[in-house]
Amino acid sequence: MQVAGKGKPRRGRAAVHGMPGAATVAPALLAWYGRARRDLPWRRSQDPYRIWVSEVMLQQTQVERVKDFFVRFIDRFPAVDALAAATEHDVLRLWEGLGYYRRARQLHAAAKAIVADHGGEFPRTVAELRCLPGIGRYTAGAIASIAMGLPEPIVEANSRRVIARLSGYAERLDGPGGDEPIWQVAATLVPQQHPGRFNQALMDLGAMVCTPDRPLCQACPLAECCTAQRTGRVAEIPVKAQRRAVKAIRETAVVVRRGNRVLVVQREPGEWWEGLWDFPRVAVAARAAPRAIQRSAFLGGLACGATSRLGRFTHSVTHHRITLDVVACEAGRTGRAAQGRRWVTAGALAALAMTAPGRRIAKLVG
Ligand code: SF4
Repeated sequence: MQVAGKGKPRRGRAAVHGMPGAATVAPALLAWYGRARRDLPWRRSQDPYRIWVSEVMLQQTQVERVKDFFVRFIDRFPAVDALAAATEHDVLRLWEGLGYYRRARQLHAAAKAIVADHGGEFPRTVAELRCLPGIGRYTAGAIASIAMGLPEPIVEANSRRVIARLSGYAERLDGPGGDEPIWQVAATLVPQQHPGRFNQALMDLGAMVCTPDRPLCQACPLAECCTAQRTGRVAEIPVKAQRRAVKAIRETAVVVRRGNRVLVVQREPGEWWEGLWDFPRVAVAARAAPRAIQRSAFLGGLACGATSRLGRFTHSVTHHRITLDVVACEAGRTGRAAQGRRWVTAGALAALAMTAPGRRIAKLVG
């Protein structure tokens, strides 16, 4: 582990020891948190269920975006048994728009496991929490420290950046085990008293003060014990991960009409948006779509008439940029939709859990 400082970088445990301990950091950070903390809906309770739901939603999603989703979700599923009793479709419908739907499916599966295997009570240790679907090191640490008061560290994007700068850790953090040294430092910092507040304070400091660009070091409660600040390396730490190249994809979505109904397909396991409904797509540009539609399996033997253009838009999934043409066609009377397909009215589309582009197309259908 390389630490920025005078002379040669130090390695290994020396780097952790070079970091001011909890006795220095925790009081300053907790005092700042008392003055500056963000008022967030999930912070008005120490219910492990609410903490858990919020932490799952916050993975890869901005705080501002999560707020309304969280309130709606808790209104509908106020406790773990209510979530366990829901259908997966209802959970996905409520999650619609948050993205990364695997999170919702795992949340649902874990709720069922908590009810079936733990009598509806959350396990009280990180090790047991991590046995539940979708609960990894970070989420387990958040539930344990915030809801249960256990001195467990958590490392996410904001606290990772703060700790890297505090400790002057100047190596790459991406890749398997890349942030393990940060976890080690976090474990030395988290105090016995108020570990949940401390972890939340680290995250708030990263979000509000120790930001990725132009951090507000002059206003930082930890400036005096920050290695990156002391050594003039704030702009270099943390070391930026290499961005993946964006991959361009062209697809055509097809609104297949029959009378006042349209054909929708459910995304299959292993596909993006697994379990959600979408309009059928073919991996070709619009001009090649008619023949591709006729050859594709989703029509299940239906004849399809001439196509007309409805529009075009782009959307992003992970590092893919998809240009989506939208065409419409009339299905013939013969044949039937294959398994995993439904004919629905425009009104019924509103009740389906749909992919983000599917929802945009549904608005075109009217
Ligand atoms: S002094 Fe600057 S770099 Fe160091 S923790 Fe505070 S905001 Fe971050």
